[in-house]
Amino acid sequence: MKNEFVLYYQKQFDADQKTIGVEALIRWQHPKLGFVPPNEFIPLAEESDIIKEIGAYVLDEATNLILKWANDEIKKEWRISVNISPKQFRDEGFVENIKNLVISKNIDPKKLRIELTESVAIDNQESAMQKLDELNRFGVSISIDDFGTGYSSLGYLKHLHIDELKIDQSFVFGLGKNSSDKTIIKTILAMGEEFGFEIIAEGVETKEQLEELKNLGCNYFQGYFFAKPCHEDEL
Ligand code: C2E
Ligand code: CA
Ligand code: CA
Repeated sequence: MKNEFVLYYQKQFDADQKTIGVEALIRWQHPKLGFVPPNEFIPLAEESDIIKEIGAYVLDEATNLILKWANDEIKKEWRISVNISPKQFRDEGFVENIKNLVISKNIDPKKLRIELTESVAIDNQESAMQKLDELNRFGVSISIDDFGTGYSSLGYLKHLHIDELKIDQSFVFGLGKNSSDKTIIKTILAMGEEFGFEIIAEGVETKEQLEELKNLGCNYFQGYFFAKPCHEDEL
């Protein structure tokens, strides 16, 4: 099964259009079904323990790449963001696994960022808080993915160790089209300022969206305008 999976990577940029890292995005090439998008198989995998295998595979690949890039003049500066599914995060040994990977490969934990969704951060807050504290102390950073789409409660932001909020692409798509998306983005950026989170916008497809985001004060970007997800060799 494992060799049917491959990781793609999509670059992330700062306001000077310098690459700061990549997000790892899994691809499944099924021998009969062909390409199956992650939005289709990840939710299914979540219903069984297969998600743990997939999650372990992704973390192993990503940390291998961090090790490989340690010898690359340019890429040694890059961080890799890895999507973590709720079930994977809730697993008892989750933090221990990450620590073991980082220690056994002797890589810099600061080069690894994990992406969680809001629901993960909110459900079972006590245990989430402990895990995020431990990851933070260890040096692994945390991003909240699809920010703004999940819960209306924001109280969790002040209790949890979070480094980055990722503005959901649906708000970026709405820029220039409806004023409420712009208002939401402004609000997220203001919160970032107040709490000291980095803010990255995903799904940036056009120059107009980029300019508007920059004008609003967003500093980090990801999207087809800059780069599509691709194989490691093409980065
Ligand atoms: P996500 O984490 O929100 O990832 C962003 C998705 O938007 C990716 O889709 C990416 O290819 C796509 N994208 C990036 N830039 C643009 C753009 O400018 N315009 C548009 N329209 N789309 C853009 P992808 O790769 O199909 O992944 C879909 C979702 O599957 C991800 O959403 C994530 O939730 C999940 N996923 C992907 N890889 C993994 C993984 O390794 N583990 C887990 N647990 N979930 C994963
Ligand atoms: Ca993500
Ligand atoms: Ca997202």
